[in-house]
Amino acid sequence: MDFGWTAAQRAAYDRMRALGADADAAAPEDRMGVLARGGALGLAIPRALGGEGLDLVTTALAYEGLGATLRDGGVLLAAGAHLFGVALLVARVGTADQQRAWLPRMARGDCMATVAATEAGAGSDVASVQATADRTAAGGFRLTGEKRYVTWADRADVYLAVARAGGEGRAVVDVTHVAHVAHVAHAAHAPRAARGLTALLVPRAAAPEGSVRPGAPLATAGLRGARLAPVSFSGCELGPDALLGRAGAGLAVFQIAMTYERALILAFRLGAMERALGEAVRFTRERELGGQPIARHQAVAHRVAQMKLRLETSRLLIYRAAWALDQGDRAQAEAALAKWHTSDSAVLFALDALHLRGGAGYLEESGLPSAVDDALGGSIHSGTSDVLATVVARWLGL
Ligand SMILES: Cc1cc2nc3c(=O)[nH]c(=O)nc-3n(C[C@H](O)[C@H](O)[C@H](O)COP(=O)(O)OP(=O)(O)OC[C@H]3O[C@@H](n4cnc5c(N)ncnc54)[C@H](O)[C@@H]3O)c2cc1C
Repeated sequence: MDFGWTAAQRAAYDRMRALGADADAAAPEDRMGVLARGGALGLAIPRALGGEGLDLVTTALAYEGLGATLRDGGVLLAAGAHLFGVALLVARVGTADQQRAWLPRMARGDCMATVAATEAGAGSDVASVQATADRTAAGGFRLTGEKRYVTWADRADVYLAVARAGGEGRAVVDVTHVAHVAHVAHAAHAPRAARGLTALLVPRAAAPEGSVRPGAPLATAGLRGARLAPVSFSGCELGPDALLGRAGAGLAVFQIAMTYERALILAFRLGAMERALGEAVRFTRERELGGQPIARHQAVAHRVAQMKLRLETSRLLIYRAAWALDQGDRAQAEAALAKWHTSDSAVLFALDALHLRGGAGYLEESGLPSAVDDALGGSIHSGTSDVLATVVARWLGL
């Protein structure tokens, strides 16, 4: 087992770290453009399809570099939803035509993608989606439904929508029972547990006028840069080429997307934690009370040591999950562990960083309260911590 980084991996980290600094200095509106021009949106897309063809471990390290300097977690979440939630899925289960049509543009950031799965009655339980994808006479689909909390909703060019085939009842599945779903994305006979949902790529520009309507960004507690908003699909006519994977195997397709997301979407948090840890070490050494640095108090020093532990354990789990995906494993449990632990650690980490500053940490200008708000969002998207714990428990055979 080799925990070292190659020169090429270091170079990817350094390049993305510098790019993150450029994006951080840019106006919020321009940050995604900076990331796109610097290649961050296509790192793991195959070279032949316009990306850099990096493996996922290196891609995770590169996103750690971005997070070290770019403090806008919302934009990094949106970049991750684009690359990990949709582009990698197209690279994995899309047809050759779909890959040629979408991936070069996604790699350049000319076409921004996002996942539109959540509905009022279907968040953790995605099998309950009420959106419908009726077959048209031309062999395509007519999509109708109301999605909510969609990242980058008003800026996205293409949505990965999950809908129920017209006439099908609720997909008979416990969404946490994922052990066997990944391989059925293309299976001729999807098992009963995965039947009933369809995954569609919905291009906004090609959709009939008014049939795809994103709402205004919501006033979220944190991660404002992610621009969460509802998206309404009303009788949106799509060609047969909108279908990703097999009709009826949409849940399996969606779980593959979620596995990539869970493994990688919080890699940027590692960089943010590293930065905050450095600041905590500096501050607790420099802040003197009663003639000695506060770091001399064991309670303070242990809090900082806990931050280091949370960072390193998150790091190991994310790289482990990325490595497992690179090996071709399904990696659903590894991805769930990585996302669950990193998101919960990030919340505790942000609270530690705030508490270490005392009253100054509670001031908005410190940026620490908003860092807590940002971290909280991480334990909800791409599967709540409760759902991920259940995924792990099921994997253990419980
Ligand atoms: C920052 C952010 C970004 C997001 N981006 C997107 C996006 O791009 N696209 C998209 O489609 N959605 C997105 N979402 C929505 C997100 O995926 C859902 O909010 C999430 O899956 C939870 O669904 P819900 O809100 O309906 O809550 P519910 O599913 O109603 O859950 C409510 C509570 O019940 C618990 N719970 C529910 N079911 C179980 C279970 N089986 N086992 C244990 N506990 C359970 C949950 O953990 C939670 O505590 C985003 C959300 C956030 C906060």
